[in-house]
Amino acid sequence: MSRRHHSSRASTRWAVRIVPLFILGVLAVATYAVVDRLCVNYLYRKKHQAGVVTAFLVLYFLFFLLMMAAYLRTFFTVQLKPGVVPLAPEEQTEREAAEKLRKRHKRNRDVEDRALAPPDPNPDSPGLEAFYSKDVFVCEADGRPKWCSECQQWKPDRSHHSSDLGRCVRKMDHFCPWVGGMVSETSFNFFTQFCFYCGLFCAVSLAVGAYSFQQHHKDGDPIDGWALAIIVLSCIFGAFTTGMALTSIRYILINTTNVDMLKRPQTTTLAVRIPLSTPPSDKYNVIVYPLRGPPRRPGSEGQQPHTHHGPMSSRDQQAERKFAILRTKPRENPWDLGAMKNWKSVMGDNFLEWLLPIRHSPCCNHESMESDYRFGPLVSRLRKRYGVPELSTSSRSGHGVELQERASRRASQ
Ligand SMILES: [Zn+2]
Repeated sequence: MSRRHHSSRASTRWAVRIVPLFILGVLAVATYAVVDRLCVNYLYRKKHQAGVVTAFLVLYFLFFLLMMAAYLRTFFTVQLKPGVVPLAPEEQTEREAAEKLRKRHKRNRDVEDRALAPPDPNPDSPGLEAFYSKDVFVCEADGRPKWCSECQQWKPDRSHHSSDLGRCVRKMDHFCPWVGGMVSETSFNFFTQFCFYCGLFCAVSLAVGAYSFQQHHKDGDPIDGWALAIIVLSCIFGAFTTGMALTSIRYILINTTNVDMLKRPQTTTLAVRIPLSTPPSDKYNVIVYPLRGPPRRPGSEGQQPHTHHGPMSSRDQQAERKFAILRTKPRENPWDLGAMKNWKSVMGDNFLEWLLPIRHSPCCNHESMESDYRFGPLVSRLRKRYGVPELSTSSRSGHGVELQERASRRASQ
């Protein structure tokens, strides 16, 4: 993504410009106080504690460098690759017209403006195929994917509309002025590393401040204001960033985000692919893609969208895919793979990637034909709960088996 994504709000645009300068200022003052005043001038020149000073300085600059590396990687990722869902190019002008209309309605305080943009009723709606070509995807009760009325397109799994960016963002977490924008799937690992190293950096600063304070006290020297200031500042920033680091690590281990946490009390509806030969069940509804029939009117939700009109070409028959519409219980997380796999899906496969901001999270790769984000064992449990058959490996890889199944069904009728 070459285009930069700026916030639509003037206040956040200003925060994004000012906060990094503020951080640089705080770091400059902290480094002057810790390195020059406390370590070099006091502990080394006056107290001749070369060993203690060396240990402090090594740790101080180690965590300083790691923190800055993670910070810069987070900052530039957030600016240049914030994980926004691309817009379908052919609809750009239509969308711009809709956006203008929406803004005008907003100015007129039209509370109904969201109703202006119902899901695209067209059975061949652009972008739909990207969903039903996978084996499992998040859907609404009628089996169609979620729709973003602002972006005027279907919402990929785990993406949410950011009013700050005016776009849908994959695995959106939160808008963070400290790192200049939206923390999402592309930056969550780097952001976590930044918070972690910032916590350690504050801990070293606190140790230098507290040790100097204690030495002053022991030798009856007058209390040093710099030591006191460093203790207070590192406690405040350290508590904040350590809290953020621990929360982020917890979210990674249970495979969730701040946005997902807010939605946890709700259920998730999944379209789970089943063999075409599966007999109807009263336990769940099914949907068959590609959708057929005349465009459905909005409000006809809940009705069986799969209605055949006219003869189907054999090519269409081959491409048919049937999905059971299954609902999780509240608080169930279908993406939970278990702590270690959750961790690796965000932090990477090896120890070096966990510690250094080298590579984007493996979960940013959406090329798998099974699903957008890997689903956990809950999907298998859902199949059992609803009595939905598993897809055999051969029908997963192609359509041959399903055609055979249908042929044998016809033969037995
Ligand atoms: Zn959107």
